[in-house]
Amino acid sequence: MYDCAYCGGTLTRRRWHSSTKYSKTIWQCVTSTKKGKKFCPHSKGIPEEAIEKAFLESYRIMCNNNKDVLEEFLQRMEEALSSNTIHKEIAKIEKEIQGLENKKNKLVDMILENIIDKDTHEDKYNSLMQEINEKVQTREKSLSNLEEEKDIKKRLLAFKKVLEQNEVIDTFDRYVFESVVDKVIVGGVDEEGNKDPAMITFVYKTGLSNSIFLLR
Ligand SMILES: [Zn+2]
Repeated sequence: MYDCAYCGGTLTRRRWHSSTKYSKTIWQCVTSTKKGKKFCPHSKGIPEEAIEKAFLESYRIMCNNNKDVLEEFLQRMEEALSSNTIHKEIAKIEKEIQGLENKKNKLVDMILENIIDKDTHEDKYNSLMQEINEKVQTREKSLSNLEEEKDIKKRLLAFKKVLEQNEVIDTFDRYVFESVVDKVIVGGVDEEGNKDPAMITFVYKTGLSNSIFLLR
């Protein structure tokens, strides 16, 4: 999601002075840190905090200039999240679990009626139990996905409201950030053709983008 403007490589998240009170999270070009500075000489590490602040500024500009595009995009995301895919998935798994439980009950009848012997019964019982356990686990996972979707939906709706009321956002929300931003390009070239490593371009999932110049 984070790309270097100069070499096209990705950026990596690193902690500086992690044991001191001066600890900072920095995003750096992988080419520069792994291969050497000379392979990407213009890139510079940018504090995560600065990128988050830049995002808020970029988003504010985006909301002012392209309100319609953004609203339409949020609307689409919201609709995608309301889709019944997960609900259908859960209903299907529940039906399958019920089917397996029925089979398990029938096994008991079969042994009572002497249709199968004890060993066959045990084998079948064990494999059925294994199948049931697997399905139960899948159901748990789907249920937690559903909760997650609900949470994202709530945040998007809250954000849409902020947008509609033209409020200024002052706290960074990673969910919102990741929902609306496709790519962050760190570094760039200013209007005069100078390389500016503290320029950050946000490419939104709407296809629109804008650049923020960090103060140094
Ligand atoms: Zn680079």
